Amino acid sequence: MPETAIQVRGLRKSYGAVSAVAGIDLSVCAGEVFALLGPNGAGKTTTVEILEGHRRRDAGEVVVLDADPELGTRGFRSRIGIVLQSTGLQPYLTVDEVIELFRGYYPNPLPLDEIVSLVGLEEKRHERVLRLSGGQQRRLDVAIGLAGNPELLFLDEPTTGFDPSARHVAWNMIRGLQSLGKTVFLTTHYMDEAQALADRVAIIVDGAIVAEGPPGTLGGRADAATRIRFHLPPGSSRPPIQLTAQTDGSVDIVTPDPTQTLYDLTSWALANGVSLLGLEVSKPSLEDVYLSLTRREIS
Ligand code: ATP
Repeated sequence: MPETAIQVRGLRKSYGAVSAVAGIDLSVCAGEVFALLGPNGAGKTTTVEILEGHRRRDAGEVVVLDADPELGTRGFRSRIGIVLQSTGLQPYLTVDEVIELFRGYYPNPLPLDEIVSLVGLEEKRHERVLRLSGGQQRRLDVAIGLAGNPELLFLDEPTTGFDPSARHVAWNMIRGLQSLGKTVFLTTHYMDEAQALADRVAIIVDGAIVAEGPPGTLGGRADAATRIRFHLPPGSSRPPIQLTAQTDGSVDIVTPDPTQTLYDLTSWALANGVSLLGLEVSKPSLEDVYLSLTRREIS
């Protein structure tokens, strides 16, 4: 396995007058979970399809597992796994039969038992596809993506439509893939998913990467001012601190020095017998950063 799983320089792709990907650079290390985020129409699918070898680029260098995906050699295809948003699976085959069918397409498939256990379908092995729940079918989609024992797995919105507990099961499954040394390239619209899973995130807007880095520091999050929020009880006086906003008794303070501000605030509250109801201290969330970077697209 190369140290760099994906290397992209100056990638461009237009559809007629529409510039879908306008010169992006990307680098994904082997063994990393990398998430590509962006609003609808930003260029994610176009980028991923080029990386998978399913779409030709207009310009730029693309190296995936030491190969040019555009050449689409059999060797390259056997080293990547692709999980699309929905796979039309044979409804009357059982889980085991579907996985076996796809294992048969690859030279060095992952053992059946290992695939079934990785995706958590042990209890459904002999169930027909049509009797699986939506979440179980999605896990079977992932099982198919794993059939050839790929080094690099592309996951397109892996948990769309899942209930919260099914999402957490899927997240654990993706962490399990990473612990096996697989590289995972993920697209998602869920910021909590990117935060929970990704080592690094890139945000694409209008075909250009506008931010890239670990989710905890993206867009200057780590250095951003801290927000302190609470409610004042009715009739309470106001703390002697600069308040950023106050509506319906809710108080917002944005401070670059939370240690001092919290000290001033809680000292005042204790001295005056005031409860700071629902006190919260937070940094901007990944979603806050995402929305500020993509605002033009969404509005
Ligand atoms: P979504 O989140 O909605 O799936 P995306 O980020 O995956 O969006 P793309 O599907 O890559 O975005 O589309 C990028 C731009 O290219 C959009 O403006 C889209 O309309 C356009 N586009 C995509 N595929 C084609 C095509 N086959 N022909 C013409 N235009 C296309």
